[in-house]
Amino acid sequence: MRTVVLGGGESGTGACLLARKLGHEVFLSDKGNLSDKYREILINNRIEFEEGGHSLDKIYNADLVIKSPGIPDNNPVVEELRRRGIEVISEIEFAGRHSSAKMCCITGSNGKTTTTLLIKHILDTAEIDAGLAGNVGFSLAAQVAAEAHSLYVIELSSFQLDGMYDFRADVAVLTNITPDHLDRYDFKYENYINSKFRILQNMRPEDLFVYGYDSDAVREKVKELDIVPVQAPFTYLDKKDCAAYMDGNRLTAKESGRVFSIDKDEISIKGRHNIYNAMCAVLACMRLGVSNEKIAEGLRSFPQVEHRLETVLVKDGVTYINDSKATNVDSAWYALDSMTAPVVWIAGGKDKGNDYSVLSDLVRKKVKALVCMGLHNEKLIESFSPLCKVIDTDNLEDAVKAARSCAEPGDVVLLSPCCASFDLFKSYEHRGEMFKQEVRK
Ligand code: ADP
Repeated sequence: MRTVVLGGGESGTGACLLARKLGHEVFLSDKGNLSDKYREILINNRIEFEEGGHSLDKIYNADLVIKSPGIPDNNPVVEELRRRGIEVISEIEFAGRHSSAKMCCITGSNGKTTTTLLIKHILDTAEIDAGLAGNVGFSLAAQVAAEAHSLYVIELSSFQLDGMYDFRADVAVLTNITPDHLDRYDFKYENYINSKFRILQNMRPEDLFVYGYDSDAVREKVKELDIVPVQAPFTYLDKKDCAAYMDGNRLTAKESGRVFSIDKDEISIKGRHNIYNAMCAVLACMRLGVSNEKIAEGLRSFPQVEHRLETVLVKDGVTYINDSKATNVDSAWYALDSMTAPVVWIAGGKDKGNDYSVLSDLVRKKVKALVCMGLHNEKLIESFSPLCKVIDTDNLEDAVKAARSCAEPGDVVLLSPCCASFDLFKSYEHRGEMFKQEVRK
């Protein structure tokens, strides 16, 4: 069996380790450069690899190809592989084929990482062993190769789901769907929605499907489909026929005949979106056998997640918040929605075809000034200058200075960019780090 792995990051390197363990002949090819960490792992495990380009003769003779989620389906090498009838799958699919562990999978447009980490935190609190895998940064295949755990909590992006066929989740969580990454889906929202719903494939009647009832795209699609697993919709409304709902101030959830309830103020992470994330985690953890007491304890003690509405500091009465992970319009909507003080909002970056009109009401109500920070601010300026004061900057230092000069005691300076970071930064993490540094300065 010759297995070729395309892309040598965390998932690709992990796939090599599993393929190697299975006795496959393995070859990894990366068009760019590998990081030292992964190069070393490959060398230490005597796995043949190349970087800085693809040797097609060593790729087209594969029996199976595992592709990094970063490589789009319309990549010419991937297209040629498919034309030749060679199977191309994702690393999660590959790992799933060689594991009998229980899989709790989380997908959605926003809230994946927070929900995934929260589930893992609650399981840790209850001393239930589980591996953390997928988009959160740890390869599932590497852990399966090491036979590390009998339960995995896995964050899945739509790109990973696209390469999944036989994989089956025991618990599937779909947080919400709003337009994102449409550039990878022929600019068709429907294609992106269908990709997210792949999380349901192969599920059995006794499995659990947790989904955001308040998300229009999710609710509509659920109505259209024949859903096999048990349905557990969650809502912010007082709607008692949902599996999780708000009863006044109390998050209430019902699963497998058990009821759980907690005052929302007891949950460590704040804002309506985080109540949604908490509902997902509660329902999943109830299904995974965690006691009510441990669920509540976990919800109270969950630490703030970096770059997601992270309070940096309070200076001269102004609170500075880093929400660099808000790379799309919906996440910025929830950030603004959860603000209770007047906001000086820093936004901008690489626009992914954003429609800013959905933010108008919130901006009118909450934002006193918008500081644009990007190389192409025209669309932001045009959208928001009728609604609030707008300042145009093209670097972080100027943006933070401008925000500081607009803010008065009691205000919040919020970095919630609505855009990808790649015009000025390497990644959203880099953007968040630089913001925190600049604020502290
Ligand atoms: P993902 O992994 O799906 O990108 P994160 O948990 O990393 O999600 O959060 C990304 C951004 O979206 C952050 O700005 C965060 O504050 C916001 N966010 C988190 N959960 C939700 C949610 N359920 N709905 C909308 N926005 C959310």
